Amino acid sequence: MVTGGCLCGAVRYEIDVDVLEDVSYCHCTVCRRSTGSAFVIAARAPSDKLRWTGAAPKRYRSSTSAWRGFCGDCGSPICFQYVDKPEYHALAAGCLDRPRFEARRALGRREPHSVDQDRRRPAAERDAGVARGQRAEDR
Ligand SMILES: [Zn+2]
Ligand SMILES: [Zn+2]
Repeated sequence: MVTGGCLCGAVRYEIDVDVLEDVSYCHCTVCRRSTGSAFVIAARAPSDKLRWTGAAPKRYRSSTSAWRGFCGDCGSPICFQYVDKPEYHALAAGCLDRPRFEARRALGRREPHSVDQDRRRPAAERDAGVARGQRAEDR
């Protein structure tokens, strides 16, 4: 079971999987502005295995192709979801309780989820280490 939640604890979730295997990062304009960070690390989870155990996140339609979920109380970014791929949620990795990944495939974002495609760049190879199972405290 993988669990996570927002800063204040209002939004909580659990995912009925042992490990999240599909991790990517993105530094498109929408990801940067929606988090206030240089880039986002996102771990993809099957929607049918994800349960909101606290409050569900508020939703914001951040582009034509995706919406974003965030805590309505503390503002933590929680997830994004492609409009045409409702079978997956991409969870903000920083909100996982134990952010450890065992990715089997990587990881550069090739498809846009913002309208700002010009600024997209694929993930650098060195950044894939996050997805190869390094724990946050090891880095
Ligand atoms: Zn919160
Ligand atoms: Zn992005």
